[in-house]
Order: sequence, then C-alpha cells, then structure tokens
Amino acid sequence: MKRIAILGAAESGIGTAILAQKQGWDVFVSDMGTIKDKYKQMLIDRQIPWEEGHHTESHILNADTIVKSPGIPDTAPIVQKLIQQGTPILSELEFAKPYSHGKTICITGSNGKTTTTSLIYYIMQRWGADVGLAGNIGRSFALQVAEGDHDWYVLEISSFQLDNMFQFRADVAVLMNITPDHLDRYEFEMQNYTDSKMRIIQNQTPEDAFVYWQQDEHIEQELKKRAEGYAPKPTPSSQPACPGHPHLMPFTDSDFERLGLTFSQMGQHNKRNALAAFVATKHVGVDETLIRQCLAEFPGVEHRLERVDEKGGVLFINDSKATNVDACYVALQAMTRPTILIVGGKDKGNDYSVLFDIVREHCAGLVYLGADNQKLHQAFDHLGLPIADTHSMRECVEACVHMAKPGDCVLLSPCCASFDLFKNMEDRGEQFKSLVHAYNI
Ligand code: ADP
Repeated sequence: MKRIAILGAAESGIGTAILAQKQGWDVFVSDMGTIKDKYKQMLIDRQIPWEEGHHTESHILNADTIVKSPGIPDTAPIVQKLIQQGTPILSELEFAKPYSHGKTICITGSNGKTTTTSLIYYIMQRWGADVGLAGNIGRSFALQVAEGDHDWYVLEISSFQLDNMFQFRADVAVLMNITPDHLDRYEFEMQNYTDSKMRIIQNQTPEDAFVYWQQDEHIEQELKKRAEGYAPKPTPSSQPACPGHPHLMPFTDSDFERLGLTFSQMGQHNKRNALAAFVATKHVGVDETLIRQCLAEFPGVEHRLERVDEKGGVLFINDSKATNVDACYVALQAMTRPTILIVGGKDKGNDYSVLFDIVREHCAGLVYLGADNQKLHQAFDHLGLPIADTHSMRECVEACVHMAKPGDCVLLSPCCASFDLFKNMEDRGEQFKSLVHAYNI
C-alpha cells in the first residue's frame, strides 16, 4: 500500500486525507500547530491517524508522497529533509486532479483572484452547470472530488499552490496580473515569483485556453520569452513543469466599452475582472446574453468595495481586504464622491508616497485607525487634510460620521493588515459594518 503524509491539517489537508483514504492510500496527517476540533473529528470518524504540535519524522520521511499545505514554506526543516531525500511534494490540487472527471477553470494573479473566481462560479451556476468552487476559496477540492465529483470546478490558485503543481493541466487558465507580492518566499527575485504565476499554463495544449490581461507588463513578456525557449530555473522542491502552448485569449481595458458591458461592481480594476470572466465563460459555451445579465446582477464579494449603507447622505464602503497600498489605490480610483479614507493597521513596510496624488484628488479627510498611527502622521499630515486619530473601530466610525458631509463617502481601505486591533480582515470589515448599521445619523 502506498503511503501519503499530509503536512497541515486545515481545509485542504483534511480533504486530501479523506480522498487519499478513499483511493486506498495509507494516510498520515501531521500539523505543527493545533488542529481545529471540526477537522479532528473528521479524522477520528474515519480512523485516519494524525498528530498535532509537532512533526514525527519517522512517520513522515517514509512516505511515498507528501501533500503540503501552501502555508508551509520550503524552508521549514521537515520540508528541507524531504527535498534532500527527493520525496515528491504536491499541492492538494495536484494530488486530487487525477481522481476527478471535472473540467477546470483556474484563476491566478496578484490581485483580483477572489472576485474573478466568485464571478465565474456565479455565472457557471446560473448557467446550470454542475460546478464546484475550490482552491483558495470555498470547500476543499479534494473533499469535493471524494464526496461527489462535479463536471466543472472553478479554482482560485495562489502562487504557493502553483509551486507544487507539475502535471496539472487547466482546461481554462486565467491570469489577472503579476505585481510584486510575497517576494520573501521567492528569494526576493521577481522572476521566481513570475515563473510561479506562469505555471498556470503549464502542460496546456492549443485545445486549452489562456485568458489574460494583455496590458500587464510581465505577462506578454513572459509569453514571448517562453515562445523563444526560456526555461524557468528549478524551484527547491521541484523541477520545472512542462511548458504550456495554450490557445491565447488576451483582453484589454477598451474591450469593456467595445463590448458594451455593464458590471455591478465599481472601479476600473473590476472591469478587468468582469472581462476575464466574460471571455472565460463565453469560451466554455455559456450563452452571451446570460453572461451579460450575470455581470449586471453579480452581488459582489464581501469586504471588497462592498457597499454597506447610505446614511444622512453619506455612503459607507467596506474594502477591508485592501491590505496593501496597490489595493487602496484602485479603490480610491473607483470613488466618485469626496472620500473620507480610513487607513492604518499593521504596516508591512508600506511606501505611502504612491498614494499622495490620488489622496489629494479624491479625499476630503483621513481617519487613522491603528494601535500605532505615528507612521501615518508622518506620511499624510503634510497633505493638509482634516485628520482624526483613532484606536478602535468605534472611535473610527464616530470620527468618520463627525467628519463626513452629505454627498461624501467613507471608505475603509486600510492599506495594512488587521492584526494589531482585529482578529483578521474579516473581523475588521464586520465590526465596521455593524457599527455603521447601528449608527443614527
Ligand atoms: P485576491 O484574491 O487576488 O486578493 P480580490 O478579488 O480579493 O483579489 O481583491 C483584493 C483587492 O485587490 C481588492 O480590494 C481590490 O482593491 C484589488 N483588486 C481586485 N481586482 C483587481 C485587479 N483586477 N487589478 C488590481 N487590483 C485589483
């Protein structure tokens, strides 16, 4: 019996364990941290052996195959040992795909993955397809394959997942953009990160489609390099996968107006997300009239430029997912009213100067929200806008209400991670929404 060890026991790891057991593998699950009770119960119910708080090497190094959670870096000591002895290390998607009969629409990029994935899934569902949503979003792909396979899957795929995918072949690959991100996991080399994103087309043939934003400076260049025979250098845990030669389906911003599309979500960046979904779903055969209707009616994704409420003539928007400066920039670009911007949190070494012009253009005031707002004062005070300094969401919403005039909008698009005052970005967005809903203006 072949043996599989699964590192990381959350959604993807547990799904993999259940699928592997069903397929006759000898399974072992190991997590350095604490496993959530619901996942423990799933393992106990199926008598799958597991451990938490440590990795027992003797149970892991003897495995034929490893499936690793994308959160565990190659530098982890146990991963280093596995790499040295040459054990194949796969992602959940790579492991599960051969057991599925479903076709895949796979979305990656530095920004816009969740929105585009959710939109494509929405369109596929409305079309009546038997479709699953998985990858970085929704329920585990492996678990869905194990418990009732679908004809279609819409998969949001991160670069960390792509790093451990080798034979995987996407029927439709969608690449939104490539901008610097997570470089600490890529030896601070942009090319390594770019190569990881380009794995989305690995193994593709002219029968498969590659949908991408043609105005991205990296993607076109990378396609050209690959056509001329460029081979990415091997990553620590793998040799490069087979280059892809897909049917190319580029789109540009002007296509949105040319096609006369309407999208329910605001902002230029969202037009790109809509175009990607339009091209991908039309390619797989969805009726164009239905796609247009879905774009107009898509309810949006929580915490991404989400309209909360309009009170006393002031519109409140929750963009808590904007945890970096780029995301805040595109949010401000989308604003059509004078904006009170809520900014702050756990700073990841942000350079705020790229925001100065757009803040001058769109903002009527700034509300700082963080445990320590000193860097924000240094960065923005000189712009001369009204400023408020706050350290809790309650103080923050009060300050916004005080500052905003009828006709303004209040935008939570903080540029920063949330861990200084909140559990996570969802908690931050939810606290904002419930306080706004409760406030009488
Ligand atoms: P991801 O899953 O890649 O993080 P999301 O759809 O969750 O992407 O969007 C995250 C943030 O990125 C949003 O708040 C928005 O400001 C920004 N964003 C969304 N789509 C795009 C895009 N196509 N190009 C640039 N920025 C985008």
